[in-house]
Formats: sequence, structure tokens, C-alpha cells
Amino acid sequence: MSNSLQGRVVAITGASSGIGEATARRLARSGAFVVLGARRMDRLSSIVADIERAGGRAIALELDVQQRGQVQAFVDGAVREFGRLDVLVNNAGVMLVAPLADLKVDQWDQMIDVNIRGVLYGIAAALPVMQAQGSGHVITVSSVAGHKVGPGFAVYCGTKFAVRAIAEGFRQEAGPHIRSTVISPGAVATELPTHISAGPAKDAVEAMYATAEISADAVAKAILYAISQTPDVDVNEIIIRPTAQT
Ligand code: NDP
Repeated sequence: MSNSLQGRVVAITGASSGIGEATARRLARSGAFVVLGARRMDRLSSIVADIERAGGRAIALELDVQQRGQVQAFVDGAVREFGRLDVLVNNAGVMLVAPLADLKVDQWDQMIDVNIRGVLYGIAAALPVMQAQGSGHVITVSSVAGHKVGPGFAVYCGTKFAVRAIAEGFRQEAGPHIRSTVISPGAVATELPTHISAGPAKDAVEAMYATAEISADAVAKAILYAISQTPDVDVNEIIIRPTAQT
């Protein structure tokens, strides 16, 4: 096990699968104490057990990022367990792709609540802790979809553009000792597209992912890179996608 992050406390939202899970596993292997949050506690508990079996330290906390009180309790729980919070990875997200004309307004609301409000609730909980410590780092998982818009992706892209803007504002306002990194992946092999309602939009996304996708661990390595820099270096954004993605 490498010790590059020895004892650094990292809280990760959406850690029960995909990029969040891979990040928890990789950072724990680098010595970080990881706090995993998501709704599926069974998944979190089994990831924590794996990490502990490998000699790492981790805890699981049930978390719905749509509930501000739960996000506050998640950050409070990290600080209670490990005494501080060095990094918050604002990763939890949903991608419910459909043409606007389908009027899936409930899905629009869910994407706004999880992808934007959840990120803001994370900042609301973590910023006071980090300012009191005089150090901290917030990783915001946006997307290539935070840079360009395609048909069916209007609301999802809107949420990912929004969090890039919020992360940049956070960078400017949080203070000279608090870092802000945006991670913008292209197609990554995770459960994300499985939640799209059946239909042409889901078929198109699955066809796109079938041509090229990278592993969740490739994104975890990018997050590790950003966190591992010396405190005076703030990696502001990493765009990472399959070489073959257009
Ligand atoms: P997954 O579906 O595998 O993971 C999503 C995670 O978010 C799960 O752990 C899920 O946990 C959690 N989550 C969803 N809703 C909530 C909620 N209300 N409260 C708490 N946690 C929640 O997908 P990815 O790993 O791909 O997604 C992670 C991030 O990466 C997202 O922000 C996504 O937009 C972004 N991204 C993904 C790309 C890809 O191609 N896969 C590309 C670009 C960006 P649970 O259901 O247990 O709550």
C-alpha cells in the first residue's frame, strides 16, 4: 500500500458504485481515511469491509444528498470519526437522459436536486469546517457534458455546466488555503446509464458507451493526482475521456 495520502480524511458522496466506489478504494489504498456516503448501505458496508480487510480505514454513512440535513450529518460524521475533513468529493449524480418534449419533469427535478443541490449542500456542510481548519479541498464531479450539449441531454448538461460554475466560484471565494478541482469525465463504465428510461435516448447512450468507455478507476486516478499535489498547487480541472470518444 502506498502512503501518499496517509491519514488524510476524504468524504465521498455516491460511493456505493462507479466512480465514487473506485475513488474510495484507490484513496484508501493510498492511506486516506475514507468516509463513504450513499443510499444503498448494503453496498457501502461491503466496500468498507473490503477496504478494512486490505488494511485501510473506512466508514459508511447512509446519505441522500437531496436532504440537506443528511449531507450535514455526513460531514459531521466524518469529523466526529476522524477529527477533520481534508477533502470532500462531491460525486453523487444521476443522468436521466430524454428529449425535453417528453416532459419528464420529475426526472428534471431529480437531476437538479442530486446533481446541483446535493453539491451545494456538500459545500454548505464542508466549507465552515475547512475554513476553521485553514485548509481543505472540494472535488466536484462534472462531466464532458458540462462543456457541450447534445440532444436529450439538456437538463443533465445544465446541471453539469452549473456545478462547474459553482466550483469556480467556490475556488475564488473559499480562501487562499482551500482548493477546488473539477473532474470532467467522458464515457465511464458505471451504472449511470442504467437508470435512463427505456427508449431511443437510452439506446443512443448505450450505443455511444459501447464504442468507447474508460474504467471508473481511471477517473479515481485523476482524483488521486489532484489530491496528491502539494498544498500550494490547485489542479482546477481535469477532463478525462476515452481516447476513441468523439
Ligand atoms: P453510478 O450510477 O455508478 O454512481 C452514482 C452514485 O451516486 C451511486 O453511488 C449512487 O448511490 C449515488 N447517488 C445517486 N443518487 C443519490 C442520492 N440521492 N443521494 C446520495 N447518493 C446518490 O454512476 P457514476 O459513478 O458514473 O457517477 C458518478 C458521477 O460521475 C455522477 O455525478 C455522474 O454524473 C458523473 N459522470 C459519470 C460519467 C459516466 O460516463 N459514467 C461521465 C461524466 C460524469 P445510491 O444509489 O446508493 O444512493
